[in-house]
Amino acid sequence: MIADQARLRSDLLAWYARTGRDLPWRTTRDPYAIWVSEIMLQQTQVRTVLPYYKRWLAVLPTLKDLAAADEQVVLKLWEGLGYYTRARNLHRAARYLWTAHAGVFPHNFEQVVALPGVGRSTAGAILSSAFNLPCAILDANVRRVVSRLAAVDLPAERAGSALWQLSEQLLDPAYPRDFNQALMDLGATVCLPRRPLCPVCPWQEACLAHQSGQPERFSTRPRRPPRPHRYLVSVIIRSADTILLVRRPERGLLAGLWEFPGLEVDSEDQGLDALQTAFGPALQITGTLGRIQHEYSHLRVSAQVFNSSWQTAPETLSGPPGIREKAWVSPDAWSDYPMPQIAHKIARLYRECQQLT
Ligand code: SF4
Repeated sequence: MIADQARLRSDLLAWYARTGRDLPWRTTRDPYAIWVSEIMLQQTQVRTVLPYYKRWLAVLPTLKDLAAADEQVVLKLWEGLGYYTRARNLHRAARYLWTAHAGVFPHNFEQVVALPGVGRSTAGAILSSAFNLPCAILDANVRRVVSRLAAVDLPAERAGSALWQLSEQLLDPAYPRDFNQALMDLGATVCLPRRPLCPVCPWQEACLAHQSGQPERFSTRPRRPPRPHRYLVSVIIRSADTILLVRRPERGLLAGLWEFPGLEVDSEDQGLDALQTAFGPALQITGTLGRIQHEYSHLRVSAQVFNSSWQTAPETLSGPPGIREKAWVSPDAWSDYPMPQIAHKIARLYRECQQLT
């Protein structure tokens, strides 16, 4: 239980009034725009999100526009932001809201939290921000702040319900919008993971972690399991002036994005044979372009990249398995296709090698 909630609330709100960040989703009450911002902000920092948010709303300003948009347009707008499931969920949810809710964004927690990609904290953030409803939030930053305030010293897996209770107790029912935004700001700008800036914190006097002398010890962040390392072999396949792009399947990692054909292999020395087996004798490997490394939140990847040409008519190419679509595209037109970061790295490697020859 938190002592003197009224004081904590008023101190935080006064601090927010003085120092709150000027963010574009704070100047609107449009639930669609706020929903987009909250999904973009999941596991992504504000400064990364800002240009994406502005571009997204310029192209898809309303829920109706998103519902009517082609998936390629949606993925292109998200390109580089990562965790692409978020974009596909937004798209799916917009189509659902357009047909099942006449395009009206719901005001009710149960209906919002049932949307694809919206968890309890995101629903709370949308509803408090758009409609000023008293719904608590608990994103990673807020978890850190409240666990420090009350010195919750529990493993991450067991801390959830205690931290939700704290966030609910703290929430100011008179000003839920500003309170939640202030809490987010406090976590993002003051109560930092490694070096919390306690001397400028409005909750310094009440904070038990600060009083312990080791505030950084309290974070209740789930421990990440070690990331496996995978090997890929990728190939640039040329036919006349075009190069083959393939579209990933509809489900799974990077679903629906375009990339250069590739295969997973057990070790690097299997790459060449694996390509030749997958594509057959019409694939003529002409050299190696190099290696790239790429990191996902859950996975590390090393990819060997080969250059090649296709020796028969392009339409005869059928492998590798699992491809959703294929397109022979001039390098000048690659930018029309939404690609993951790893494909952009391969494209850069290819262009650098072209400049050297
Ligand atoms: S006093 Fe320090 S540890 Fe406590 S909430 Fe403020 S910044 Fe975080």
